[in-house]
Amino acid sequence: MNIFNSKSELKAFLIQQKEEGKTIGFVPTMGALHKGHLSLIKRAKKQNDITVVSIFVNPTQFDNKEDLEKYPQPLDNDIKLLKKVACDVLFTPSVNEIYADDIIAQKFDFDGLENQMEGRYRKGHFDGVGTIVKSLFEIVEPTVAYFGKKDFQQLQIIKKLAKKYHIPVKVKGRPIFREDDGLAMSSRNVRLTKEHREAAPFIYKTLKKAKKKFGTKNVNELEQWVEKQFKKQDLLELEYFTIADEETLQTPKVIESNKKYRAFIAVFAGDIRLIDNIGL
Ligand code: AMP
Repeated sequence: MNIFNSKSELKAFLIQQKEEGKTIGFVPTMGALHKGHLSLIKRAKKQNDITVVSIFVNPTQFDNKEDLEKYPQPLDNDIKLLKKVACDVLFTPSVNEIYADDIIAQKFDFDGLENQMEGRYRKGHFDGVGTIVKSLFEIVEPTVAYFGKKDFQQLQIIKKLAKKYHIPVKVKGRPIFREDDGLAMSSRNVRLTKEHREAAPFIYKTLKKAKKKFGTKNVNELEQWVEKQFKKQDLLELEYFTIADEETLQTPKVIESNKKYRAFIAVFAGDIRLIDNIGL
């Protein structure tokens, strides 16, 4: 596996690959890799000649300083995992390499997608995400980029970013990987206390129950039902539960049979914020 810290060296390597007619699959990550990340990498490998993974904990997408400082960064183990799945290229730039002296995000208009859910509760989050992904797309110039539906809102925003800025990349969404007890895999899960880890599968259990009830209750009633379930749980604090149209991410007033809907949730387990979602 080739490991690059420098944009220019990575670019030079990839230009050569493209001149040989090779396609580039790209998987941007913040590291602390788990099976969800690896599934994206395996998919990229299957569909492209060269697979590039980036590991970069992007400071401008964190609204919480402690979350950024405590974000796990087990780089040596990540490299082992990447070698195991025969990843071709790892890009691990420093903050300075990406931002030079100004660690600030560009402002984006994603046609309102950025104002819902994660954007509402994590101010500036999607400006940070847009800034880093646009910058990585400009460096890597991938043929196809792979994102997990775990961050479904992010996936829709990246599709919008590529469209708005005419970036010639195909953006593909992939399924959510879960632990055996249903908890969505996340790099932050290792930071959960034993108690919170044991409580956390309640999130997906509740999503599955809400999915069953969708259609028998209206959106408001369903949101209230979920709020009630979490009030009975001491260890988990609900931040939001929302039902939204998959395309617009707006909460529907009436359910239309030709549209796809999804339920989105954010929960605090102690200090750790967990998100999940389910197609309805
Ligand atoms: P992150 O390192 O958390 O920024 O995630 C990098 C990529 O992996 C994003 O596209 C995520 O949506 C995706 N991802 C994270 N967790 C999962 C999961 N449990 N299942 C599938 N994809 C995931």
